[in-house]
Amino acid sequence: MNVLKKSLMVIISMVAVSATAQIGIGPQPTQPNQPASNDCIAQKDLQDIASHFSQFSNIAGKEFCNDNSQTWHLLSSMMFMKRTAFDSNMVKSKDDLFSGKFASDWYGYFIGRIDDISVVQSCPKGVIAYVQPMFGKTMSVCPAALTDSFSSLDRASVFMHEARHIDGYPHVTCSKGPRAGIQGACDTKISDTGSYAVTVETYAQLAKYAQGLSPALKAYAKSSSVVYADEAFENPVKINRTEQLMMLTADLNFNVMNTATLKVDKLGQAPTAGRIFKRAQHMVLIPTDRTQNARYVFARNEGEIKQSAGDMMTEYNAQPVAQKENLMDVHNGAQFTARIYKNSVKFTCDPKSPTTQDVNMPAGSIAAALIYPNGYDRAAKVAHITTETGDVFEIGCQGTTAYLKPSTLRLDQKYSRMYKVAGVTFGLNQNGDLFNVEPNRSTVLNLNLPSKVIEIAPFQSYEFFD
Ligand SMILES: [Zn+2]
Repeated sequence: MNVLKKSLMVIISMVAVSATAQIGIGPQPTQPNQPASNDCIAQKDLQDIASHFSQFSNIAGKEFCNDNSQTWHLLSSMMFMKRTAFDSNMVKSKDDLFSGKFASDWYGYFIGRIDDISVVQSCPKGVIAYVQPMFGKTMSVCPAALTDSFSSLDRASVFMHEARHIDGYPHVTCSKGPRAGIQGACDTKISDTGSYAVTVETYAQLAKYAQGLSPALKAYAKSSSVVYADEAFENPVKINRTEQLMMLTADLNFNVMNTATLKVDKLGQAPTAGRIFKRAQHMVLIPTDRTQNARYVFARNEGEIKQSAGDMMTEYNAQPVAQKENLMDVHNGAQFTARIYKNSVKFTCDPKSPTTQDVNMPAGSIAAALIYPNGYDRAAKVAHITTETGDVFEIGCQGTTAYLKPSTLRLDQKYSRMYKVAGVTFGLNQNGDLFNVEPNRSTVLNLNLPSKVIEIAPFQSYEFFD
């Protein structure tokens, strides 16, 4: 793309807004349980791709193996679209998650709309690919999308999203919700079948009907589908779901509790103990053993995925252990993020900018954890942190300026965690006792679990997937 054209560029398609970058990612073809052939693309497949995308003609003379190059990531994503098989009978969901409108022949859909792929040098924060339908059928892909921290599964979903823009369907600025004020981050309603509807549908299809995908990748795709459905539409998307309280116990079991009946069911095992924070519908584990990486974690024995749980965790994982030990918790909202360290908080206050701001804890106060007495809300402008001594501070962003101040909230326990789930507020104190927290009292819950609760989080199940 020449400079002149670039200067005229309008970003029609903004797929990943940092906060929403949970769009996450998925499957890398290099997982040990997958056949090695996924690490090479056969010559006949390359020739087929080059017959449409002539830019690959010069490499179509022999097989192409994973060299972690941008070209590899592009080609392997197209192979993912060509090769992923789905169940023959893909039943629609009873809610808005899956209509099947984009279910057949993803690669055919893609090449029906995109003729050329251009890797651009840099993109604004949050943008991973875009098209400019007025200039033609070129899809521009940002370098951030072409690394190992993205997966072919995510790129396939992004490519389908961009292809849909060739038919029209520009985005709007979100007027409310988690992405309020973010340009190009919403469609009006999912029934319009625009690009974000394609995103929801492709992830839902992968989660429910893909053959040969690992359970962890399917779980990842499931959450991604729901995140887009929840965040990228002006009109609410109907999802039939149940919210329960997840409890991780010291014997490394994930359990869920029905908030009305207090009935507890075991879900699966955790790989290790640690702090868990929510990244929209995803759960991210910061292991107590700081030599281990922070990563996505799945509660139903789905296993793990390779991909990074976001830029903040990529940065964390690269730090020396002594530095890692200062990180106590993470708030992942769509409007702001906050990394809670013992003596300071690192904020991002502008969803469109990677700029961070550090605010120190008051002298003598050591931050311990985030609590969400009103529930974890990706649209929220404020959050609360507790200290080792049980004090509570409010944190947030006033415009794009971070602040930290004493909270008016008074708690009856030294809570290390608090969430409102399905209308009920639960608190976990520093001794591992779980409480039902009400305005003027709290009641300890005797759940007769075989081992202490060490972490809690909201946990949703969906009629279509679960
Ligand atoms: Zn778009």
